[in-house]
Amino acid sequence: MGLLAIGTPLDWPEAKKVASHVREWGIEQLLEVWRRAKGKERDALLWGDEIEYLVVCYDDEHREVRLSLRQADILTALATDEKLLSQGGGVPDLQRGAVGTGDTAPVFHPEFGRFMLEATPGKPWGIGFKDLLDVERNMKWRRKIAKEHMAPSEFPITLTTFPRLGAKENSIVPYYPPSGDKLRSQFLPDEIANPHIRFPTLAANIRARRGRKVEINVPVFRDEKTPWPFKDPTVDYDLRNWPEDDDVRNGAAKDNHIYMDAMAFGMGSCCLQITFQAMNIGEGRKMYDQLSPLGPILLALTAATPIYKGFLADTDVRWNQISRAVDDRNPEELGEKPLKNDRWRIPKSRYASNSTYISQDARLRTEYLDPDLIVDEKLKQRLIEGGLDDRLATHFAHLFIRDPIVVFAEDLKELDLDKADHFENLQSTNWQHMRFKPPPQGSDIGWRVEFRPMEIQVTDFENAAFSIFIVLITRAILSFDLNFYIPIPRTTENMETAHIRDAVNTQKFHFRKNPFPSRHVRVAGASGTSTPNPFSRPPTPVGPVEDEYELMTINEVINGKTSADGDGFPGLVPLVESYLNSVNVDVETRCELARYLALIQKRADGSLWTAAKWIRHFVQTHPDYKKDSVVDEGVTYDLVKAAERITRNEGRDGFAEEMLGKRQ
Ligand code: ADP
Ligand code: MG
Ligand code: MG
Ligand code: MG
Ligand code: MG
Ligand code: MG
Repeated sequence: MGLLAIGTPLDWPEAKKVASHVREWGIEQLLEVWRRAKGKERDALLWGDEIEYLVVCYDDEHREVRLSLRQADILTALATDEKLLSQGGGVPDLQRGAVGTGDTAPVFHPEFGRFMLEATPGKPWGIGFKDLLDVERNMKWRRKIAKEHMAPSEFPITLTTFPRLGAKENSIVPYYPPSGDKLRSQFLPDEIANPHIRFPTLAANIRARRGRKVEINVPVFRDEKTPWPFKDPTVDYDLRNWPEDDDVRNGAAKDNHIYMDAMAFGMGSCCLQITFQAMNIGEGRKMYDQLSPLGPILLALTAATPIYKGFLADTDVRWNQISRAVDDRNPEELGEKPLKNDRWRIPKSRYASNSTYISQDARLRTEYLDPDLIVDEKLKQRLIEGGLDDRLATHFAHLFIRDPIVVFAEDLKELDLDKADHFENLQSTNWQHMRFKPPPQGSDIGWRVEFRPMEIQVTDFENAAFSIFIVLITRAILSFDLNFYIPIPRTTENMETAHIRDAVNTQKFHFRKNPFPSRHVRVAGASGTSTPNPFSRPPTPVGPVEDEYELMTINEVINGKTSADGDGFPGLVPLVESYLNSVNVDVETRCELARYLALIQKRADGSLWTAAKWIRHFVQTHPDYKKDSVVDEGVTYDLVKAAERITRNEGRDGFAEEMLGKRQ
């Protein structure tokens, strides 16, 4: 999460009044950051991952599992652990001696849900291959430390969502009745959110800005005995505590869908994020663009979210649910009413796939950009006056079409150009699948790019595998100057496709056919020496954009597509292999990396299952499952226990081999 400033938050109508003020100051701060950091060069290629956990709590006697709301106690225990602090870990503010890179003790962070925990390595990882081999062990260490600071009945689990969050019998300990002033949810209490004032204010102001509660309808999976049409039986149409209780009487809950009504249903999901530091701003902008088309592919490949609120869903991933859970657009912006008080119709939620490219790469054709992209022209003009080029100004002027949601009265007194709080206010509440992170003021951190679409995996082996894969493909991109550009609206479409049940095996995604640079270039290998790029091709005449990409299966994208003329897409893993061949990697490292790449390859070719498929299968073959889409308390208990077992044994006991393969 972003900065957690303390102060007096403004309620919605008040925050709205100062929105332009915050945006303008945010743009001035961005310009100042840019002036100071645009020339930063030769920053190290660092990277870091983030793992999010659900803290579950078992009652074995009654075969029940709940979410534990003890985040604050657990973080306090971590923050006061002398041994952990002396090893360079703990919590960010208390971390000691966290300089350099490498395998230090982990750092723990709060998250939106009071049942969540986030852990990162104590220091970012460096460029060396040795660091890649420390990742999995470090992730396991994080989980072990987290567990040691929990109660015996608690466990840190990496399921994306708690299967019965918001189910009527109550899914949390301790118990709080639903329907508080902030969320006004009929399923969840306000106590579900981190009590730091930023979080409940965020939820309340999103709701107030919309003029009604957030509306999350997930298609229900229709099984043999699912009543049809399906009317979510947990919805209460007779509540009259808050004006928002009218939402369901006004049609908020859709037939054949699971209905949810609060930010926690989305922001309570766990994901796997990777942040890279680039050598300079230009390289960062290139990474941002080239990783963007990979987003939906990795979303589908990491699919792990087949259950909501006690029902099997007909989708496999969390993305759209989070998107809707923080969608603050009002009826005018949504196009439900004619524009009167608002400036634009806005096609996407502030949590969505990204909508523009930012690199100055000559290969970026204007046809790849969205001609209908909405930007704040006035702010864009100011950025251009301040020296930004059109493309980067467009990116930020697009993010700044949103209102700031949480504004602290104390921060409006004077503009501090040594800070970036107003900029971060907008930046950190634009939750796109890529994030371009400028250097924080007063730090020696460089320009960073964050890859955000992946779902958290049940085991640390898998989380390490996906993290390392993204690191290696990024190195291949930079080393071989690869080109994955497709028109950005195709990425938006791919993101939708990724939601389809078992998309990884059944769907096709728009992907660029030829990723190779069409000129003879010499590229710097990771060793720093310049080597001929084995992939460069003679220049090809520029044809219609539509000829540059086609629909491919995930298997083709990951493992390659053989075609009669030998010219098919080579596959992301073969590209990584070529990169590894081009640099000096010792045999042992190569073998270790091969284990991770094999997992990615087998997920893509369908020989190993995604977590979504495994969980769905677990439920559907459970003796207590009644083929009616309901995932009841007992099944949930067994499922969470099964996930814990998989996390501990990683398939070595023969359990969940469908997902993990045969492991020693
Ligand atoms: P956020 O939640 O804002 O995305 P976090 O601070 O939780 O960010 O974590 C981001 C990740 O970036 C962590 O894994 C951290 O180790 C890593 N990181 C920190 N500094 C750098 C850096 N200079 N370059 C690359 N990664 C970094
Ligand atoms: Mg997080
Ligand atoms: Mg974080
Ligand atoms: Mg942070
Ligand atoms: Mg019971
Ligand atoms: Mg992050």
